[in-house]
Amino acid sequence: MENKIRDLNDVLAEVNSVVAEACLKAGRSTDDIEIVGVTKTHGPEVVREAYEAGLQIFGENRLQEAAWKIPECGSGVEFHMIGHLQSNKIKAALPLFSAFHAVDSLKLLEKMEAACAEEGQRPEILLEVNVSGESSKYGLKPDEVDRVVERALEMHCITLSGLMTMAPFVPEAEQTRPVFAALRELRDRLQEDFEIGLPRLSMGMSNDYRVAVEEGATWIRLGSVLFGERPKWKPQQEYRWEP
Ligand SMILES: *Cc1c(COP(=O)(O)O)cnc(C)c1O
Repeated sequence: MENKIRDLNDVLAEVNSVVAEACLKAGRSTDDIEIVGVTKTHGPEVVREAYEAGLQIFGENRLQEAAWKIPECGSGVEFHMIGHLQSNKIKAALPLFSAFHAVDSLKLLEKMEAACAEEGQRPEILLEVNVSGESSKYGLKPDEVDRVVERALEMHCITLSGLMTMAPFVPEAEQTRPVFAALRELRDRLQEDFEIGLPRLSMGMSNDYRVAVEEGATWIRLGSVLFGERPKWKPQQEYRWEP
């Protein structure tokens, strides 16, 4: 256990130095970048160790798994939903997460607003944008985003705070740069056109976070670089979950 913690401390130091270098290159402050530790398929003990090593925010992408895991992680640990959320699971998800990175349709946003009003929750919402048009089946097309932002601004409970994207998988991290740059440019334009602040840019994963930070990421979602290869999730761990 002690060994593991030391390893994670080493890895975190390395990641932080990559972030610092990228910030220096881009003229940014490291204070503007937060690591979201992606702990999907890892158990609560991994979350606790990482929390003790200084990570404060964790990302999960499956509600059933998160609903089992989060209560086991103790207080003070903040979780973000980084994966696609099904609308029939919104109510179960709201009390677990302080932010939702992957809101990818107007319909989902409207349902979240209604549920937030009912439950008295005010999570941060990021719109997932499929910038490259090929990265995944999820995400708004860039030309759909304005309409969703317009509607979001009329809502009272959800707080629209930024944009998220998944870069397509490519052999060289450098090839993701245009995708991250495009998300930042879209964010900048929305801020101007709607006269709003959208401070969060959730982009960059283990293989490409350096480039993402250079292009303006504020939340980098890191799994394997921190926690190693992901174990297979054992479905029996979900049996305790009751919606
Ligand atoms: C799994 C996952 C990550 C982390 O991926 P790594 O390559 O292990 O860093 C980031 N974002 C999302 C949405 C994920 O599902």
